[in-house]
Amino acid sequence: MVTTHNLGFPRIGKNRELKFALEKYWKREIPEQALQDAADSLRLQHWQDQAQLDWIPAGDFSLYDHVLDTSFMLGNIPTRVSALEGSEIDSYFRVARGRSAVDKSACSCVHAGEMTKWFDTNYHYIVPEFDKDTSFSLNASHLLEQIDQAWKTHSRVKPVILGPVTYLWLGKSKDGSEKLDLLDDLLAVYAQLLSALKNAGAEWVQIDEPVLVMELSQPWQHALRTAYYQLQAAPVKLLLATYFGQLQDNLQLACELPVAGLHLDAVSAPDEVAKVADWLPTHKILSLGVVNGRNIWKTDLTAALDWLESVHARLQDRLWLAPSCSLLHVPVDLGNEQKLDQEIRSWLAFAVQKLDEIAILAKALNHGRASVAASLQENQAAITSRKQSQRVHRADVKARVLSITYAMGNRRSPYHQRAIVQRDRFRLPLFPTTTIGSFPQTQQIRQTRRDFRAGLLSETDYRQAMQQEIELCVREQEALGLDVLVHGEPERNDMVEYFGEHLDGFAFTEFGWVQSYGSRCVKPPLIYGDVAHAQPITTEWIRYAQSLTSKPMKGMLTGPVTMLNWSFVRDDQPRAETCLQLALAIRDEVLALEQAGIRMIQIDEAALREGLPLRKSQWRSYLDWATRAFRITANGVRDETQIHTHMCYSEFNDIMEAIASMDADVITIETSRSDMELLNAFDQFQYPNEIGPGVYDIHSPNIPSVDSIMQLMKKAAQRIPPERLWVNPDCGLKTRNWDEVKPALSNMIAASRQLAGCLDAARAG
Ligand code: GLN
Ligand code: ZN
Repeated sequence: MVTTHNLGFPRIGKNRELKFALEKYWKREIPEQALQDAADSLRLQHWQDQAQLDWIPAGDFSLYDHVLDTSFMLGNIPTRVSALEGSEIDSYFRVARGRSAVDKSACSCVHAGEMTKWFDTNYHYIVPEFDKDTSFSLNASHLLEQIDQAWKTHSRVKPVILGPVTYLWLGKSKDGSEKLDLLDDLLAVYAQLLSALKNAGAEWVQIDEPVLVMELSQPWQHALRTAYYQLQAAPVKLLLATYFGQLQDNLQLACELPVAGLHLDAVSAPDEVAKVADWLPTHKILSLGVVNGRNIWKTDLTAALDWLESVHARLQDRLWLAPSCSLLHVPVDLGNEQKLDQEIRSWLAFAVQKLDEIAILAKALNHGRASVAASLQENQAAITSRKQSQRVHRADVKARVLSITYAMGNRRSPYHQRAIVQRDRFRLPLFPTTTIGSFPQTQQIRQTRRDFRAGLLSETDYRQAMQQEIELCVREQEALGLDVLVHGEPERNDMVEYFGEHLDGFAFTEFGWVQSYGSRCVKPPLIYGDVAHAQPITTEWIRYAQSLTSKPMKGMLTGPVTMLNWSFVRDDQPRAETCLQLALAIRDEVLALEQAGIRMIQIDEAALREGLPLRKSQWRSYLDWATRAFRITANGVRDETQIHTHMCYSEFNDIMEAIASMDADVITIETSRSDMELLNAFDQFQYPNEIGPGVYDIHSPNIPSVDSIMQLMKKAAQRIPPERLWVNPDCGLKTRNWDEVKPALSNMIAASRQLAGCLDAARAG
């Protein structure tokens, strides 16, 4: 018999109950007990949603982040927090977000733990902190409590924990000491933990080691061996879980580690299933992740059975089935979506539906396909409808992608020639000032958009309201004295959703929320079909904005790679192909803006870096198609049209050449927090075009002083010729308010003028 299980369930709740409970608790509107009660009832609900599985997971829930939970369970709490007074939950939220519910003002708070992306997903975890004095001690009370709760709902409970090697890998050494030196101490605590789990009734424990899909140096491979040889004495069966990629050169290692079972992500690594089945010793079980835990499409169950049946014939009872990874990365329940187009809806599966798929597959294997004939038929109908749908496949779009020429990705002249034409055209001062696009989005702007959507506001009234807002932004920018203006983006609630709504091939859910970090959720658009540009999206707004001023107005667009990386994308064609379709669609918008007389166009690629594959050996190919897509989007314009791009990060060192190859005339990036650290990248590689390193940290309410901005810019000027430097904030200003933005920009402009003055003086002298 095939056994079914799940690696983890979304935590936030169908209606984002966890988010709302957390935020109320932080505002002290509810006591801790109410938060814990909300968490209890969510877990109960989630176990009920998973009741049909043979094994349910416990310990996959978290109030904020499971890596942070692991740090607390292992007694690894930063001393800046453990030294403070307060209960455990206060410490927990202090590390998570810099303040607990009892910390009244922002000044009584501490440095939050650093947050970074969980492998190549859009989930962010709190980075464990280590130094040479780090010691561990077990406090598993929360996990044990959850296991007790789970036992009340199901007869087979499988605790889920993060493995020791991945835990170390994910952390950061604060003093340069070697993280692996901590392994022995850490393993002693893991041994205690596994005994405690045994005492809590566990037979199987899922231990996650996704590092196994990364390129591992010998010491890390060795650490895995050490860890699992030591932990094999534990009184429980370990199911070693890997996901998010192929094992490749770690395949043999993964198969040989002395554990009772291995989970393989068969969606990312279909070619490795047979190899693993060959390598895996016959006393071990093999869990196959056959349903994609990171995307929202239905699984083709018949196709899956076609290959699973022979694996099953071979492994028999040793075969387990699960989603490819934790379902944390998909929305909870499609049942909520009543407004979604019926046909598109029939192609989708969210977490709850994915578990149904697992159950159907297992039943088909255990009792024959006939036992689930109706379900298979229904599934097949959906798969066929999606494959054949006219809404998915458009001959015109496919033909256009095929007809892309090399020339379409290239500007007519190289940068140094364009720069002369552009300088002449724009006559900007030295250190020109600009912003990244959005201006503060007040409650009123949001309400206007909502009213328009809900049909409470006429189109004319809506346009008028937006135009008023644009006018206000333009007037403010002129009063401040910025050199290059923007319209302020009042009509957009999200930079990807806005464009998706105006392109063919996109659909939007009502409740398709996915946790990004803590209480923050995102609702990614679905790209279900061939993408096409129907009509100009932004020209009306930008042209209106330009009509109000004689200064250059930057048109503002979201780039193809960012559209792709922040959406649920098609699984029936390569990402690169979808990206090219997006590129052509946005290219049409770029050309429409140029046609409308707009002379500067910014194409945001906020998320280009996020799409980097986990293995460095695959970076080249990603960067090739991603930068090509950008070039096709941007480079159809005339020499005198200035292309800007913006990126929300500063780690450029390892991708600088790729970024330079995009050939934007100006790039603005986030740097103020890292104190221009990024510019180290410029020691090895001379960025050839213009660059605006961010000098105003827009994530903070603080106003940067003229002096601090000058310091930052002087650092920049040591590496980049002043003629090619711009002065701008780190990112868009939509989350700030005008009272912060005005003085900050005013200081920015003053700093720019002083810098220009210094330079003139130096040159004259
Ligand atoms: N133009 C966008 C804005 O200013 C860019 C946002 C981003 O980079 N995340 O809001
Ligand atoms: Zn940004």
